[in-house]
Amino acid sequence: MNYFCLFALLLPSTAALAAPPLVAVDVGHGGKDAGAISARGRSEFDFNRDFAGRLADTLRQRRLGVREVNFDGNIGSLAARPQAAAGSDFFIAIHHDSIGEQWLRDWEWEGRPQRYTEVKRGYGIFVSANNPDLPTSLRCASTIGAMMRRAGFVPTPWHGRKHQPADADNGVWYYDNLVVLYRTTLPAVLFEAGVIKHRDEELELRDPVRQARMADAVTTGIAACLYVSSAADEEPAGSPAVDPEK
Ligand SMILES: [Zn+2]
Repeated sequence: MNYFCLFALLLPSTAALAAPPLVAVDVGHGGKDAGAISARGRSEFDFNRDFAGRLADTLRQRRLGVREVNFDGNIGSLAARPQAAAGSDFFIAIHHDSIGEQWLRDWEWEGRPQRYTEVKRGYGIFVSANNPDLPTSLRCASTIGAMMRRAGFVPTPWHGRKHQPADADNGVWYYDNLVVLYRTTLPAVLFEAGVIKHRDEELELRDPVRQARMADAVTTGIAACLYVSSAADEEPAGSPAVDPEK
């Protein structure tokens, strides 16, 4: 075998040579609506911003493009989020989870009354059946969930009370009427990293080492999913593009 043959064998696939996928990372909530409040009184927006920043760093380290959406918390509306992501290849909204009032108990933290739960913990991933690219949304959600589990994270089964399962084993559920998931041309998922009303999980979610492990799992899932879809896009017999911008 001569040098050139060997070089050809070592070349990555054409999909990997194309421009890297661009991932829009949306920080859920913001200045006007800080989202849920943790068991120790910290706002969901603060959790979302921390994890989204870590995820954006990890995506860039893996040579994926990142479009930051609402990192300053000042975005005007829900519909403005997917608009800000237009031109990206994938949209992921970062959230942290809470629980209904009836499941909350009272306690005190640093002299202030707070509320917590013991019945729900774990991550969840949502897709909308109304998303224009549901197959990619579902595949990416399942891949992210599978990578999360492989990294030792456990999905909450709690969403089964209100949501239809899409891939319950990997923590993926339907949530059809979420504006950020259907008023878009992009495949999209909403990622709930964990339940901040759970006192133990709240502390775990603030652990930088664990955050890095989670960001790594989510990045691996997104990269695997998007490189598979960009390879499929290049096949001439592929399904017609749904995205009118393509
Ligand atoms: Zn939220």
